[in-house]
Amino acid sequence: MRIVALAGGIGGARFLRGLKEVIAPEDEITVIGNTGDDIHLFGLKVCPDLDTVMYTLGGGIHEEQGWGRADETWSVKNEMKAYGVGPEWFGLGDRDFATHIVRTQMIAAGYPLSAVTEALCDRWQPGVRLLPMSDDRVETHVRITDEQGPRVVHFQEYWVRLHAAVDAEAIISVGADAAKPAPGVLEAIAAADVILLPPSNPVVSIGTILAVPGIRQAVAAAPAPVVGLSPIIGGAPVRGMADKVLAAVGVEAAADAVALHYGSGLLDGWLVDTADEASVAAVEAAGIACRAVPLLMTDTDATAAMAREALALAEQVRG
Ligand code: GDP
Ligand code: CA
Repeated sequence: MRIVALAGGIGGARFLRGLKEVIAPEDEITVIGNTGDDIHLFGLKVCPDLDTVMYTLGGGIHEEQGWGRADETWSVKNEMKAYGVGPEWFGLGDRDFATHIVRTQMIAAGYPLSAVTEALCDRWQPGVRLLPMSDDRVETHVRITDEQGPRVVHFQEYWVRLHAAVDAEAIISVGADAAKPAPGVLEAIAAADVILLPPSNPVVSIGTILAVPGIRQAVAAAPAPVVGLSPIIGGAPVRGMADKVLAAVGVEAAADAVALHYGSGLLDGWLVDTADEASVAAVEAAGIACRAVPLLMTDTDATAAMAREALALAEQVRG
């Protein structure tokens, strides 16, 4: 079985770890990762979502934090601070720095991000084929109004520096309209037996991937069933700022509203948490098969059970 998953950072990576537990050895997982969160810092190209997937599946993640390396040290960051060189608000540890140095060096030598990601994965052996959504630069920006007035900030600044404390007024995927899907992305979608949307952020993770011209169309046209899992439980994101960015695109932070936002043109099946059992009927009325099952990724067993439910629903809707 060939499984394709569209993934952001923490929510996507944790789900994929559960998915790996339940597939057969001959099954293949291709992950199409969000690169809209990418940012250039200290002259280095940082790809937070690709790295979260790579470290999580490769056994290098800081478990509690959910991002960055385990057993990290901070010498470089402290030295930069001593020079008065920021930004201080973005946490790059010494071990993590090495990843960004390798990536930046390879890109400067002319390798596309997809080839760089493959090279980094040679070390981490994540057990999936990890593809960036695009080799072209796409950056998610957020329009806000704060004491400095109306302005646009990089998504990382909105989330990491400003903690999403002010409302997001608009989400802009800079460069998305001119971006091309990375090599292998459309082919993997077309050849998939199942396409999964993990409980990643529907706007700034999966929404950004779908904004690369050709990807949404390929998913909608794929013969494979498309099944998603709600990142919203009981009217709130399990973690993060999905409620803020959903509001910016006019979508209520509710499990059924997210399914309707994706729409029946894209989704064949949708899983909501048991807390949202009452929203199943509305999703089904929109032409999307829906089940209520536990959706908290408390440990690998609970996450594996979610992956099993998603694959089971895919079989039911295969028709
Ligand atoms: P990010 O790039 O690190 O923000 O990660 P993703 O976009 O992949 O995932 C973020 C989403 O994961 C958030 O909207 C969370 O609500 C969701 N999430 C995190 N943990 C869980 C969980 O245990 N269960 C569910 N259903 N969603 C979760
Ligand atoms: Ca992200």
